[in-house]
Amino acid sequence: MKITEHIQNAKQTLFSFEILPPLKGQNMNEMMNSIEPLMEFNPPFIDVTYHREEYIYKKHPNGLLERVSTRKRPGTVGICAAIMNRFKVDAVPHLLCGGFNKEETENALIDLNFIGVDNVLVLRGDAIKSEGRFMPEDNGHAYASELLKQVVDMNNGHYLHEEVENNNSTNFCIGVAGYPEKHFESPSLRTDMKYLKEKVKAGADYIVTQMFFDNQKFFEFVDKCRANDIHVPIIPGLKPITTLNQITMLPSTFHIDMPDALLDELEKCKDNAAVREVGIQWAIQQSKELVAAGVPCLHYYTMSKAEATYRIAKALF
Ligand code: FAD
Repeated sequence: MKITEHIQNAKQTLFSFEILPPLKGQNMNEMMNSIEPLMEFNPPFIDVTYHREEYIYKKHPNGLLERVSTRKRPGTVGICAAIMNRFKVDAVPHLLCGGFNKEETENALIDLNFIGVDNVLVLRGDAIKSEGRFMPEDNGHAYASELLKQVVDMNNGHYLHEEVENNNSTNFCIGVAGYPEKHFESPSLRTDMKYLKEKVKAGADYIVTQMFFDNQKFFEFVDKCRANDIHVPIIPGLKPITTLNQITMLPSTFHIDMPDALLDELEKCKDNAAVREVGIQWAIQQSKELVAAGVPCLHYYTMSKAEATYRIAKALF
């Protein structure tokens, strides 16, 4: 079922979360075990992130370096199928511009459609670590809005090289990313909003936000979206802080601010167990305020670890 239908049918705020595909070489059990406890809160959908290739350099005996492409967490199609099969919920694969040309994107979408995936979250992806800025593939997409248009085309029966007849068009519900504290490459929130609006005008059905720790930023973002004629559902993304190093890692990785009140509490913590408790309590307060404000769904970035999200969901749902 489509995310938008889940939202329309819901009588109260929904609960959902995001998991990472298992690391190469791991089996499915660990991932399934991290999902299992959270099923108590009836998530209608689970997002599955996508991790593109990185490059490493292998040194040969003659001293020459060979550049090799490697992926730590390959693939999402099989994982989505396994989740849908085991838990009977919708799996939402993240689909990236980065690392895909248009033909590969089309093939991935055909596979996803074939296994019964109804929703995709379309994203540009970040630059490869060894490259300073995002580089699209040859014959690939430079922005999420372009990728989105390819999905919309397939929904209308227009494949890359031919028209498909006999109702063989796809029917994906399409999500996009939004940034309450603006995307880091964007010169201003207004510019970022302009491109977000472009994604919605091109056919995005809903928005999921980057994590934030200050609800005020989310509320202001929603107000700005509505003032800019963006009327699709906006799902807040939340991440409970669980370790001390996340205080610096999260702002530098995700380009977000931490409120002073949260930092004051975290500075008092003597170890990670105390940090975790502060992080969980903060996320519970954030979640309660968002539910009171009538958000359609609370979406948690679990990083494939259920415990903290379980505690938060238990306090809310
Ligand atoms: P876009 O919407 O394409 O925007 C990228 C930048 O370009 C922005 O600054 C925007 O303002 C600007 N821009 C957009 N259109 C134009 C235009 N036409 N001309 C000029 N500038 C333009 N990354 C992963 O690798 N895997 C994941 O699974 C993943 N999941 C995510 C889930 C969520 C909910 C979020 C919020 C992010 C996720 N990311 C993921 C990270 C995401 O890929 C990065 O934040 C990426 O840098 C931007 O992606 P986007 O889809 O927002 O890009």
